[in-house]
Amino acid sequence: MYALGKDYHHVIREKLVELLDALRKEVGAVEGRCFVDSAPVMERDWAKRAGIGWIGKNTLLIHPKAGSYFFLAELIIDLELGARRPHERLLRRLPPLHRRLPHGGHLPQGYLLDASKCISYLTIELKDAIPEAFRGKMDNWMFGCDVCQDVCPWNRFSTPHNEPAFEPHPELLAMKREEWEELTEEVFGKVFQGSAVKRAGYQGLKRNIQFLVEKLKS
Ligand code: SF4
Repeated sequence: MYALGKDYHHVIREKLVELLDALRKEVGAVEGRCFVDSAPVMERDWAKRAGIGWIGKNTLLIHPKAGSYFFLAELIIDLELGARRPHERLLRRLPPLHRRLPHGGHLPQGYLLDASKCISYLTIELKDAIPEAFRGKMDNWMFGCDVCQDVCPWNRFSTPHNEPAFEPHPELLAMKREEWEELTEEVFGKVFQGSAVKRAGYQGLKRNIQFLVEKLKS
């Protein structure tokens, strides 16, 4: 979902820089640094402690009015600020997460995730071949997977973004199965220009597509 348009690392960083500039205009000299997955900031837990939300069974930060479909990024500054109290939220009794997820990366009781079984990890971060054990278990995901967000009831509160940079390249959504199977480096460069899909790269995406196609043929 996050990778349809331009790379959020750049889009969000620009917004943080604007925010820092606005802050300086408002309060004077402020030193700060922006982080968008660019340093090991434990952002999910800091966000929880800052009162933004709580950790859901799917291990993601849940905002009471936005679910989990948002980005976390940080502006670390040398101003002391007040803080909200952390959310102490009683979760409704939900069925065990594994009954609603097809992939087995989460522990049944939730709150812990084995990333090495997560399709997002396998299709984006893994540099080697996708292990055979996952053949036939990845549905049609070729880059990432949002199922643990899709099944989260809090995401009924999420709303569509209004950021033009996140709109997909017009040709991307029109691509047919055969076009994905025969994806060339040229088409990849065009539809994913400036996109976070470049993290997997052309070869990585081809590997993922091939893995799915071989499943269909076997
Ligand atoms: S992204 Fe998909 S594969 Fe990964 S934990 Fe969530 S549902 Fe499972």
